[in-house]
Amino acid sequence: MASGETRLQAFGVTEPTAGTDTTSIKTTAVRDGDEYVINGQKIWTSRFQNSDLLLLLARSRKREEVAKPSQGLSLFLIDLRETKGITAVPIRTMVNHETNEVFFDDARIPASALVGTEGEGFHYLLDSLNAERILVASECIGDGRWFIEKTRRYTSERVVFGRPIGSNQGIQFPVARAHINVEAADLMRWRAADLFDAHMPCGAESQYGQATGLGGLLGSR
Ligand SMILES: Cc1cc2nc3c(=O)[nH]c(=O)nc-3n(C[C@H](O)[C@H](O)[C@H](O)COP(=O)(O)OP(=O)(O)OC[C@H]3O[C@@H](n4cnc5c(N)ncnc54)[C@H](O)[C@@H]3O)c2cc1C
Repeated sequence: MASGETRLQAFGVTEPTAGTDTTSIKTTAVRDGDEYVINGQKIWTSRFQNSDLLLLLARSRKREEVAKPSQGLSLFLIDLRETKGITAVPIRTMVNHETNEVFFDDARIPASALVGTEGEGFHYLLDSLNAERILVASECIGDGRWFIEKTRRYTSERVVFGRPIGSNQGIQFPVARAHINVEAADLMRWRAADLFDAHMPCGAESQYGQATGLGGLLGSR
């Protein structure tokens, strides 16, 4: 993957009736000898057309057979180059983003495609989302700093009524607030990253880091 020979770009979680409410997904994975048989549908599966492998979340035990909704979900690493029964239909979007509806009709995958322990997929998913949130927070913090610096330069160069507009409190306060928000997000981002590296729970920290990073970025605009 690091050399670019194999592309793992696609993550199939969201379904037409299960977005935020991930544990209500309906795509099933049924064990049959040395294989799993996958049936169901995903939506908004991004980069599918540019991926050799797909990480798929599917229900391997029925909802009524498990105590909690988060149980009985499994994660699979599917080789799209050698799996039949998977069809992708591109979704047209207004942004330059390749995303798809993906249909699974008796798609057979080897049992070895299972990631980790069967039924634990939801926890693996949350863990990988934390890494993504830390990454997105870092992106937003970088963007936020760039916008604040651009704003600082403009407000000190733009002269109105004989003085730079940055000498007015009405301009200074929102810029200062945006700066503080971005720096607070930065601290939380590092805290989340440290916890993640130490294999400790970091759900709240990484979500807060992402939310404040986005907030700081919006505030700075
Ligand atoms: C361009 C694009 C690319 C994507 N790529 C992928 C991908 O590669 N793989 C993948 O699996 N998914 C992907 N997604 C799906 C994305 O992760 C989902 O859109 C997201 O999980 C939200 O699900 P939903 O759209 O069904 O919204 P819904 O679950 O219907 O929620 C709609 C709104 O209601 C809010 N809401 C829902 N429940 C509550 C509640 N209890 N309290 C308060 N607010 C609530 C939500 O926050 C949201 O704002 C992509 C989506 C887009 C648009």
